[in-house]
Amino acid sequence: MNRCFLLLVDGLRPDVAEARLAAGDLPHLQSMLATGGRTTAITGFPSTTSVAYLPFLTGCAPGRCDVPSIRWLDRSAYRGRWWRDRAAVRSYCGYQASLLDQDIRPEVQTIFELVPESVGIFTPVSRGLTRERDPSRVERRIWGSVAHVAMWHQPSDDSVARHLLRAAQGNWKFVFAQFPAVDGYTHQSGHDSFPVHRALRRIDTAIGKLRRLLRVRGELSRSLILLVSDHGASPVHTHVDLADWFRSHGVRTLAHPVIWERNPQAAVMVAGNGSAMVYAQPGRSRPDRWPIERLRQPDSFGAGRDLVAALLREPAVALLAARSEEGGIWLGSAEGSAILRSHNGEIAYQPSSGDPLQLGGPWRGSLRASVERSWNGTYPDAPFHLVDQFRTRRSGDLLVIAREGYDLRARFELPEHREGHGSLIRAHMQTPVWASLPLPGDPLRTVDLFPSMLHWLGVQPPEGLDGQLVWQPRTSKPATATPQEVALVD
Ligand SMILES: [Zn+2]
Repeated sequence: MNRCFLLLVDGLRPDVAEARLAAGDLPHLQSMLATGGRTTAITGFPSTTSVAYLPFLTGCAPGRCDVPSIRWLDRSAYRGRWWRDRAAVRSYCGYQASLLDQDIRPEVQTIFELVPESVGIFTPVSRGLTRERDPSRVERRIWGSVAHVAMWHQPSDDSVARHLLRAAQGNWKFVFAQFPAVDGYTHQSGHDSFPVHRALRRIDTAIGKLRRLLRVRGELSRSLILLVSDHGASPVHTHVDLADWFRSHGVRTLAHPVIWERNPQAAVMVAGNGSAMVYAQPGRSRPDRWPIERLRQPDSFGAGRDLVAALLREPAVALLAARSEEGGIWLGSAEGSAILRSHNGEIAYQPSSGDPLQLGGPWRGSLRASVERSWNGTYPDAPFHLVDQFRTRRSGDLLVIAREGYDLRARFELPEHREGHGSLIRAHMQTPVWASLPLPGDPLRTVDLFPSMLHWLGVQPPEGLDGQLVWQPRTSKPATATPQEVALVD
C-alpha cells in the first residue's frame, strides 16, 4: 500500500528553507532529499492560511471553491442590518471558522472525502473527516488561543509532531499535518529569525522520527513525504488601515472585527494583511459586482469623488482589479491600466495605458502558460489567480493588492505584525516543495500536487480540477538507506 504524508509548514519561505538546509541545520530533510527532489510552487491567492490550503486539499483554486478569501461578504444576502445579516458576512478568523467546510462549493471534493483512509492534523479544512480522523481538533483550538496570547507557538508544532507519529503508526493512506509555528514566529520576529530556525529544526527532528518509523515498518519506499508551505512573508514597514482610509473619505465602512456599521457604503475584507476585497454599497442587495466604470463614479461609495483614482495614488497600493463593462478584468496601478480576458482556458493580457502586471507587454497563453511565464516575476502567475478570484460571486467589487512593505490593516492586530502576507507579490506567492521522490525541475502550482498525490495513492481524480497532473511521483531506485542516512536517522 502506498502512503502519502503532506506536511505543511505554514508561512515557510523557500529561501529560508534553502538557507537552513545549506547551513546543515536540517539533517533529516537532507537525508530525505538525497533520493528526492525540490522545486518552487506558486500558492493560491490570497496567499494566506486556510484559503491557501484549499489547493492542496481540493485540487481547486480558492475562487473555484467559492471561498475567495478568509473574510468575505455575500452581496446577494447582506442588507445592511448589522445583527440580522451577520451570517452574510464571513470571517474564518473567529467563531465562524467551522463554516469553512460548508462554504466550499458542494461539487468540490476534499482529499479526505476521496481517500477514506485519511487523517488531518491541525487542519482548518476538515470536510469528509470523522472525529476519529481529526484527532487534534480540540488541541488545535486550545494551543491556537495560547499561542495568540502568549506568542508561544512551539507547543502547537510539538502537538502536531506527536499526532503525526501516532498517525504513521496506524494504517492511514493519507496523512495531512499542519505546523503553524513558523508563521506565528514570522509575524512576530521575522521570517529569518531564531525562533523560525528553531521551529524548523524541530520539524526536521519530527521528520527524522517519521522516516525511521516508516523504515522499521518496511514502508519507507512506499511512502511519499511532501514538505510544503501555503505562503511566504515579507517585512511590513507601514500599516495603512484600508477601512480607516475609506472612513477618512467620509465613507461609512464595515470591517472586521466590529461589523456593526449600519447601512455601510463600503465593506472592506482584508486577507493576510497584504490584500483586501472592497464591496461598494453592500447593503443594496444585488447578485453581481459593479464594474470599474460604475465604481469610479463619484457617488459609488458616497464620497462625492472617484475613490479608485485616489487609491491609485496611495503608495501602499500596488494593484487594483475589478470587472470591466467591456468584458474581462480591468487592472490598474499608478503606472496605468490593462485588461485581462479569459476564454476557453486561454488568457489574454492587453496593456491599455500601462503594464500593471509587469509582464513586459501584451501576452496571450493557456492557463498553464501563466505559471511558466511569470512564476519568478513581480506577481507570479497573476493572470491565473486574478481570473480565479473573479470566478466566484462572493469576491469583492474591487480587489486591492498592497505594495511590498505595506499592509492594509493597522487596528486590532495585536501583537503588531512585523511581517505579513496575503498579497500577489513574489515573496508571498512562492513556496517550497520538498519531496521524498524525484520532482520535475519546472515550477508547479500547489494545486498541482493534489492530482499527483491521488495518482500515487491510486485514486481517480475528480473532474473539474484546477490542478494538473504535471508530476507522477515514482520511486527512482530501491529505497535502501545509505550508511550515512542510517547514521542520520538513528
Ligand atoms: Zn500568517
